[in-house]
Amino acid sequence: MAKTLPTPPRVGMVSLGCPKALVDSERILTKLRANGYDMSPDYAGADVVLVNTCGFLDSAKEESLEAIGEAIAENGRVVVTGCMGNEAEVIRARFPAVLAVTGPQQYEAVVNAVLEAAPPVANPYLDLVPEAGLKLTPRHYSYLKISEGCNHRCAFCIIPSIRGDLASRRPDAILREAEKLVAAGTRELLVISQDTSAYGVDIRHQPREWRGREVRAHMTDLTAALGELRTPEGERPWVRLHYVYPYPHVDQVIPLMAEGLITPYLDIPFQHASPKVLKAMKRPANEAKVLERLRNWRAICPDIAVRSSFVVGFPGETEEDFQYLLGWLAEARLDRVGAFRFEPVEGAAANALPDPVPEEVKEERYQRVMALTAQISADKLAAKVGRTIDVLIDRVDDVPPPGEQPDKGHFDAPHPPHHHDVGATGRSKADAPEIDGEVHLRDAAGLKPGDFVKVLIEDSDEHDLYGVPA
Ligand code: SF4
Repeated sequence: MAKTLPTPPRVGMVSLGCPKALVDSERILTKLRANGYDMSPDYAGADVVLVNTCGFLDSAKEESLEAIGEAIAENGRVVVTGCMGNEAEVIRARFPAVLAVTGPQQYEAVVNAVLEAAPPVANPYLDLVPEAGLKLTPRHYSYLKISEGCNHRCAFCIIPSIRGDLASRRPDAILREAEKLVAAGTRELLVISQDTSAYGVDIRHQPREWRGREVRAHMTDLTAALGELRTPEGERPWVRLHYVYPYPHVDQVIPLMAEGLITPYLDIPFQHASPKVLKAMKRPANEAKVLERLRNWRAICPDIAVRSSFVVGFPGETEEDFQYLLGWLAEARLDRVGAFRFEPVEGAAANALPDPVPEEVKEERYQRVMALTAQISADKLAAKVGRTIDVLIDRVDDVPPPGEQPDKGHFDAPHPPHHHDVGATGRSKADAPEIDGEVHLRDAAGLKPGDFVKVLIEDSDEHDLYGVPA
C-alpha cells in the first residue's frame, strides 16, 4: 500500500502597506514554505492568519486594525507583524485574542510565532529541511532556499507534481537575504533547493546587480558571491551546499572549496549506483564517471566531505544490482551516507513498476549497506584523531551547581569519560546540522553557541568526534 502523506498546515496572509512590506511578506512566506507550510487563499482554509500591517499614517493604522479585526472574526487564529507591531499595546488592547505581535523585519520572531500557532508536520517525502530543523532553527545557522520545484521526474518522487517545475529566486534577492542573516548572527548558511545544480536554468541564468557588479543566477556565481560574506566579527560564515546533482559545472565549485571560500562539503543524493536501477528511477545526471570525478575533487580539495543518500529495495533491484551498489560504495568511500528502504508514496510513478522487492530482502540489504558505510565512516573519522579542526558550537552543557556531580552530557559510555568539566557540542565543516555527526568537546567553559573554535581531536567512533579546544 502506498504511503499517504500528512497534510501540511496552511497559512493565510493579509499584506498591507508599502512595497517594502510586500517584500517582507514574500520573505516570511518563503521561510514558511521552506518549513513545510502551504498557503491558503482564504480565511476558512487557514490554520493561522498572518496580518502584515502598515503603521505609517493614521489611516493606514486604522486599515491595519480593521484587517486584524476581520481576520479574528473570520478565522480567530491571528499573528500580527509589520510596522504596526511596534504598537503591540494598541493591538492587544483592541484584540486580546491575537496570538502574537511582532515588529517589522522580525522574520525569525514571526516565523517562530507561526511555528507555535500551527506546528508543521514533518513530511520526509517533501521536506528539504530535516525534521529537527523545522522547529526552531538556532540563530547561528539558517537555511537559504534558492529555488522551489524541480524539472526532473524521478519515479519515486512526488515533488514536481506538488511543487511544480523549477522556479529559481533572483540571485540578488538570495544574496540580500544571506547578508541580512549573516548580519543578524548566522554563522552557517545551508543552501537548499530540490536541485541546487540546476539553479537559474528556468530564468536563463539572468544576471542581477549585487554589490556593484553582475551576478548570474547560476550555482557557481552564487556560491562565489556567498563566499564573499563576512560576519560582523569579520569571519567567513560557512556556506554548505545541499542537494547538488553532479552536473559538469559542479567541478567549478571545488576550487572555491579548496580556497576556503565555501565549506568543503557536498550533499549529492546519488540514490543508487547501478545504471539499471538509476535508469528505472529516472535519475538526473546519471553518468558513469562519478567515481573518477570524486577522485579529482579530492585531489583538488583533500578535505572535501561528500554526503549522500541511497534507496535500497527499489522495484526491480536484484541482488546483482545491490552488490554493484556495495562495490561502488566501497570504492567511493563517502564521508556520510543515509540509506532508506524503498517505500511507495501516494502518487509516485514507481508504484506501478513490476518486481517489488520483498520487505525482508529490503531490510537485509538496508542492514548490509549500513554496516559497510558505518565502517567507512568510522575509518574516516579515526583518521582525524590528532588533527586540529574548525568547529562551530551548537550547544553548551549547563554548568552544574558547585558540589554536584556534573551532567555527563554527551559523554555517556562507551566514550571516554570526560565528565569532569563543562562540555559543549558542535560540528566540523564535514557535518551538516541534524543529519551528520557531531564533535563533542571537553574543557569547553566560556564557549557559547555560534562560536567558531579550533579543536584538537582526541577520539572518534562511527559517527562523532571527541576533542578539546586547541
Ligand atoms: S530531482 Fe528527482 S527526487 Fe529530486 S525533487 Fe526532482 S524529481 Fe524529486
